[in-house]
Amino acid sequence: MPETTPQTDSPDDILRNIFGYAGFRGQQADIIQHVCSGADALILMPTGGGKSLCYQIPAMAMPGMGIVVSPLIALMRDQVRALLELGVRAAFLNSTLTPQEQADVLDRARRGELDLLYVAPERLLQEETLTQLVSMDVSLIAIDEAHCVSSWGHDFRQDYLELNRLREQFPSVPRLALTATADERTREDIIKRLALDDPERFITGFDRPNIRYSVHPKTDARRQLLGFLSDRRDQAGIVYCLSRKSVERTAEWLHQQGFDALPYHAGLDVETRTGNQERFLTDDAVVIVATIAFGMGIDKPDVRFVAHMDLPKSVEAYYQETGRAGRDGEPADAWMVYGLQDVVRLSRMVEESEASEQHKRYERMKLDTLLGWCEVTRCRRRQLLRYFGEELPRDCGNCDVCLQPPVTWDGTQAAQKALSCVYRTGQRFGAGHLIDVLRGQLRDKVTRLRHDALSTFGIGAEFSDAQWRSIFRQLVVRGFLISDPARFGALRLTPAARSLLRGEEELFLREDVERAKKASVRKRHIDIDIEDEELLDALKRLRRELAQAQGVPPYVVFHDATLKEMILLRPKKTADMLEVSGVGQAKLAKYGDTFLKLLRTFDLHPD
Ligand code: ADP
Ligand code: ZN
Repeated sequence: MPETTPQTDSPDDILRNIFGYAGFRGQQADIIQHVCSGADALILMPTGGGKSLCYQIPAMAMPGMGIVVSPLIALMRDQVRALLELGVRAAFLNSTLTPQEQADVLDRARRGELDLLYVAPERLLQEETLTQLVSMDVSLIAIDEAHCVSSWGHDFRQDYLELNRLREQFPSVPRLALTATADERTREDIIKRLALDDPERFITGFDRPNIRYSVHPKTDARRQLLGFLSDRRDQAGIVYCLSRKSVERTAEWLHQQGFDALPYHAGLDVETRTGNQERFLTDDAVVIVATIAFGMGIDKPDVRFVAHMDLPKSVEAYYQETGRAGRDGEPADAWMVYGLQDVVRLSRMVEESEASEQHKRYERMKLDTLLGWCEVTRCRRRQLLRYFGEELPRDCGNCDVCLQPPVTWDGTQAAQKALSCVYRTGQRFGAGHLIDVLRGQLRDKVTRLRHDALSTFGIGAEFSDAQWRSIFRQLVVRGFLISDPARFGALRLTPAARSLLRGEEELFLREDVERAKKASVRKRHIDIDIEDEELLDALKRLRRELAQAQGVPPYVVFHDATLKEMILLRPKKTADMLEVSGVGQAKLAKYGDTFLKLLRTFDLHPD
């Protein structure tokens, strides 16, 4: 089929006929209109918000070719692959192409055969490329991951700085900067450094309502993970671990438990790494176990969960890592376990770093904020959004706290016992030893140090080991104790401990109990009856076969949501098929009949 994109179509027509979507989301329509009028824009939209359409549709609707600057080669390739599948005339230009292939792409661009050209920044800024592109008919320039231009952002890239040259080179071409993460300061920095001309700012909220957040105290991380994964065996997901070693061990262990789990970290050779990443992208239910090195540039829309086995470094990092779940808008989970050990380890990492005292203070503050968030007793999403300066008018109903409000108890006395034990033992020990003393355990270390003779020996026998761990963790998080990195995480009292010890203050603690699983039935965006599960499986199988035949990931053929809509709408004729969200002209021509045929067989045999 020849690739043809009608140049005269309106954005609405393109959305419906090519992308197969029924309507624009959020501010998309406004943004597209703004860009088509020839003005600059800064677009801040959370991951999965639908940024790509904001430049793809104007580039297709306007005469000339849109240039998309993207720092991530994998992402570029995925986007172009998806566009080609829709019949859009798109190509990319980066170092993975041979010189001949690159020349061919530029030839096609010159002949006006492309609507979208994706380019890596370093490639775009080469004199030779620039000279050629300047002489062509360029409709717009979109700069993706625009926060990379700012040193306030978290992925600063030197080559982005030079993108300000685009202003002189393409003086009359509208430029759009797009990002999913940028605080106020970063936003203004982006505008300044890219030299945008009086841009309109389109800021969409940070909320990802389809992601369910839950955080649990770490007791037995593996068993907890297995519990979480037990009814997610058919899902793709990411499990983050802090170290390479734990990545490998966890992947191997999950594999033994029957999961299609693969490791990913910077220490693996390139071949293994890219191979595992490719499997994750193309297969339906691969679990990637990874360090944070994994994820940048992964554009897989149907990642159903992101699990953290260790605490990330900050709320921003957590938000970015969990943001990789559920880009398709379908329900997804952000699940995490964390314990006192994480706190001790991360504090130590901050203290042992080479950074300035000012920077360390900043890092400490970020860690404290994250810890505070882990222990919230009110809606977790509200707190998360508040951190990004956004106020949710009501509790979300889709986080662990909303679904199972934590029980609190008066922990004043327990806290006093714990704090005096820290004091009596000289503020030199970690939680393990302190708990032995409190519980009256006659271990070697206890007797050797004569801690069995202390007045605090055995005064806490009423609590289990796990309960004391929970109490100590909360005392650290709430700022009554600090973990001293210079002494391997020994716990010390803070000035705040004094009023608690004197009985001038009450302290309510969260009760950490392993809640019964499946207390609530998961709400689906599109409800599928049990009998339809079989049809869904059949549709997925068909999708996989078609995808494999072309060497593309299944979601490039159709997203999950599109398959589910087919089940609900049960299209009978070609025209009905177009009603399904995600089915446009190109996909209808390519797959319509095959899917209709399968749907018909199920209609004949309703059970
Ligand atoms: P972002 O780049 O902001 O993370 P994408 O542009 O990748 O998000 O879009 C996320 C998902 O939402 C994609 O699968 C995309 O096809 C889908 N999408 C975007 N806009 C619409 C829309 N108006 N209607 C339906 N689906 C949409
Ligand atoms: Zn909530």
